[in-house]
Amino acid sequence: MVHKKFTQWYQDIIAIPSISAFDAHLDQSNLAIIEYLAERFQQLGFHIDIQPVPGTRHKFNMLATVGSGEGGLLLAGHSDTVPFDEGRWNSDPFALKQVEQRFYGLGTCDMKGFFAFILAALEEMPLHKLRKPLYILATADEETSMAGARFFASQQKVKPQMAIIGEPTELKPIYKHKGHMAHRIDIVGQAGHSSDPARGVNAMEILHDALGQLLQVKDQLRQRKDDSFSVPECTLNLGHVHGGDGENRICGHCHMTFDVRPLPGMQDDEVVALLDEALAPVQQKWPNRLTRDFLYPSAPAFGCNNEYQIIELAERLTGFSAEPANYATEAPFINALGCDTLVLGPGSIKQAHQPDEFIDLHYVDPTVNLLRGFIQQICH
Ligand SMILES: [Zn+2]
Repeated sequence: MVHKKFTQWYQDIIAIPSISAFDAHLDQSNLAIIEYLAERFQQLGFHIDIQPVPGTRHKFNMLATVGSGEGGLLLAGHSDTVPFDEGRWNSDPFALKQVEQRFYGLGTCDMKGFFAFILAALEEMPLHKLRKPLYILATADEETSMAGARFFASQQKVKPQMAIIGEPTELKPIYKHKGHMAHRIDIVGQAGHSSDPARGVNAMEILHDALGQLLQVKDQLRQRKDDSFSVPECTLNLGHVHGGDGENRICGHCHMTFDVRPLPGMQDDEVVALLDEALAPVQQKWPNRLTRDFLYPSAPAFGCNNEYQIIELAERLTGFSAEPANYATEAPFINALGCDTLVLGPGSIKQAHQPDEFIDLHYVDPTVNLLRGFIQQICH
């Protein structure tokens, strides 16, 4: 059943814009939504800690804590949304609209709305009776750099026993996913008239050498496999290439981008070392002409530790078997706190990042019950 208060919280949360975008014109501070959540959780008796996230455009994380001591449970989610497609929505993305058993709005499904589910779960719980701490974390910039979760993990402020990230998984526990890293290679040659190749340095020829080396790395990475994924191997994809001015000039500059999707258990550093080792001979042959850089910060691969059997607990509470996912989340950062971490929340990824994003209200009761179940199992 959908309560009036739940609808009100959802409406409030959706009404406060918190778009993240690499493009500064679209990017918004999430302070207003963080302050709103802080007020709600404070009223329930939580202690609130709001922290600016370094290296962002006025973005904040919120950690709400009730209870004290070791272990406990962390319920986490991101406070931001992606930008919306102007003109492609059938209603105002910031005005919650209920049509039959659906709430429409930007962030209803992915995933600001999750905080309304948490509030509903906590509403009538005797929180003062918890024997272990319960933490609520709202992060910043998940949709772009994951700077919020990255910063939170680096602080190591809390060490819960278990953590749930309420991304839309149709309430199926997600226990692992691949990582994602994107790189850019820049090559500076020297332009000149095509009639005399000796008068320049052809950047495209250097790129040819670099591509040969990258394809070898691709073959090496392909040997690494995890059969629980529909694409079992670690992939490297050549994605974009741009360079040169015209057929009668020596190509003076080119760049290309590619991505790698590491498997759980593979460290980003390990992949970077492979890439740099492969590119070193090209750099030796063509000194100071080739550079490799991250296109943006990487999202590491994630595999649940399951030290405290969170997988078994989640399977029991949800009735679903744990699955791998093919999208990246903040889970590797939360996992780095040293807790058993799962991605598990209401709604479907199929409705995420779409015009007319919605959450199906059939998720309300099962999600509220599930959250109460976790709290009772872990914090009582
Ligand atoms: Zn999300």
